[in-house]
Amino acid sequence: MAKRYATEAGYAVADSALQLHGGYGYLTEYGIEKIVRDLRVHRILEGTNEIMSLIIARGLTGAA
Ligand SMILES: Cc1cc2nc3c(=O)[nH]c(=O)nc-3n(C[C@H](O)[C@H](O)[C@H](O)COP(=O)(O)OP(=O)(O)OC[C@H]3O[C@@H](n4cnc5c(N)ncnc54)[C@H](O)[C@@H]3O)c2cc1C
Repeated sequence: MAKRYATEAGYAVADSALQLHGGYGYLTEYGIEKIVRDLRVHRILEGTNEIMSLIIARGLTGAA
């Protein structure tokens, strides 16, 4: 639950920061796009967040 929440929240914050800076946020020189890219992969690494949702749902419902 923590992995899924933290990676979704972190990415949303970084994405908002990029949006706030408009076109400049997208440029390499400002560094925000790197933060967005670096955070994006954590929704995939160590088990994708979709699989995290599956594991959480199984835990909550007791389904096998
Ligand atoms: C930069 C990087 C470094 C990595 N380093 C390592 C490493 O050091 N060691 C290591 O072992 N692995 C490593 N990996 C692999 C990583 O763990 C896998 O990419 C990750 O577990 C997802 O597996 P996959 O890429 O095969 O995606 P897939 O399993 O093919 O999934 C593709 C998409 O389908 C979705 N999906 C799949 N099954 C379901 C389902 N049942 N229900 C809903 N959605 C589903 C996924 O959520 C995903 O969105 C690395 C990956 C990257 C990108």
